[in-house]
Amino acid sequence: MIELPVKTHTKTEIVDITKEVQEIVDKSKIKNGLCCLYIPHTTAGIIINENADPTVKEDIINMLNKLVPFTANYQHTEGNAFAHIKSSIVGNSKIIFIENGEIKLGTWQGIFFCEFDGPRSRYVWIKIIPA
Ligand code: ZN
Repeated sequence: MIELPVKTHTKTEIVDITKEVQEIVDKSKIKNGLCCLYIPHTTAGIIINENADPTVKEDIINMLNKLVPFTANYQHTEGNAFAHIKSSIVGNSKIIFIENGEIKLGTWQGIFFCEFDGPRSRYVWIKIIPA
């Protein structure tokens, strides 16, 4: 397993990790298989979405903040219930095909780490399986 560190700088942030994931696949020398990505945090997540227009990231953040407000009648006393809920909505794992040494993404797709309770030092756990 490879641990990819991700530093976040704000409370809610979507960080493009596509290049870093491809570099890890390159180093593995595995040409065909599966790239498994797992987020070992309860207040973060992972999405695959558009990497061409950066306003898409802004829209996702703004709408998630609207759907799950920072303050509400939450029971969780740590004060970050909103982040746990957002993490549950977006999910914490992805599997991507590797074909001829390249992570197989659609033309407009990128891989994004989602911070919901930053800033923090985070990790993505990555396992590359030849197949
Ligand atoms: Zn908490």
